[in-house]
Amino acid sequence: MTASVLLAAVTIAFPREGQRFGPLDRCYLIGATDGGETNLVVAGRNVPVYRTGAWGVLLDVVPGTNSVSAGGVVRRFYVAPRKPTTAGTAKAPEKKYVKLPYAGDVPRAHPAGRSPEGITIVIDPGHGANDTGAVSPHGWFEKDANLMLAKEVRSALAARGYNVVMTRSDDSFPELYDRPKVAFACNADAFVSIHHNAPPHDKDPIALRYHCVYAWNPLGECLAKAINARMASSSGGVPADNGVMHANFAVTRNPEIPSCLIEADFVTSPAGEESVWDPVRRRATAEAVASGIADWCGSDLL
Ligand SMILES: [Zn+2]
Repeated sequence: MTASVLLAAVTIAFPREGQRFGPLDRCYLIGATDGGETNLVVAGRNVPVYRTGAWGVLLDVVPGTNSVSAGGVVRRFYVAPRKPTTAGTAKAPEKKYVKLPYAGDVPRAHPAGRSPEGITIVIDPGHGANDTGAVSPHGWFEKDANLMLAKEVRSALAARGYNVVMTRSDDSFPELYDRPKVAFACNADAFVSIHHNAPPHDKDPIALRYHCVYAWNPLGECLAKAINARMASSSGGVPADNGVMHANFAVTRNPEIPSCLIEADFVTSPAGEESVWDPVRRRATAEAVASGIADWCGSDLL
C-alpha cells in the first residue's frame, strides 16, 4: 500500500459549510471560535479547529502542544504558530474555547421509549437585553419575537407533558457559552435555540422570507429534520422551507446533547414581521416546533 493510499484511507470527511453531514467522530471534542486559523492535531492529523464539534471554557493557549485535564482525564492539543502579519510581526497570543473532559463524552441515550414526563427539553430564546438581534421594519426586535415564540413552544411542550427549561424567560442575556451549559446542568435530552432571521447584505430584505433549522453534527441533524418537517407542513402563512442547514454555532456544536437552531421566519420582511407578531400564527409555529420535537422523542433516531 503506498503512502498516498494509506493517507486516503485514514482521511475523515468533515462536513463543510453548506454541505450535508458525514459520520460523527467522537475524537473531535476540542473547539474554538476563531474561524479555523489554527489547527488541532488529533491522532497525528491536522484538523481545522473551527470544524470540531465542541463548546468549552476559555483557556490561554500557546503555539505547540497544549493540554487540558479534569476528572483525571488529560487532553492534549496542538496549536500551530500563527502566520506572521504582512508587517512581519506575529499576532498576539490568543485564547481558545477548549472543551474540558466531561463525564462519558458520549451522546445521551435517545429518549425513545420514555414518557414525556421523563424527558427534558431546553429552549433557548436567542439574543436578549442589549443584544437585540435583527430589527423589523417597525423597529421591533428579534430578541422579543424569539422570547414570545419560545414561551409558546414551552407551553406546547408542557401541554404534551415534557419538562421544559428555558435559558432565559425575560429580557436578559445569558452569555453564548452559558446557554449549552444549561443543557448539561439539567441533564437535557435536547436543546433548541429559537431565532428569527435577517437577510445577508446582498439580498432584498423586502422579499426574502423562509424558515430553516441549523445543526452541526448528526445528533442535531436528526432533531433539526424532525422539527423542520413539521414547520414545513404547518398550515397558513408559512414562509418557504429552506430545509435543514449545516452551521457551526456555539449553540449547535454540542457533541453530546442533540442541539439545533431554528430560524422561524424573517423579521426584516414586512410580511414576515406581520406574521411573526401575529399571536395566531405564532401559536401555529410553536405547535409545529413542539410536534417536531415530540416526533424526534418518539422515534428511535439518533
Ligand atoms: Zn438571531
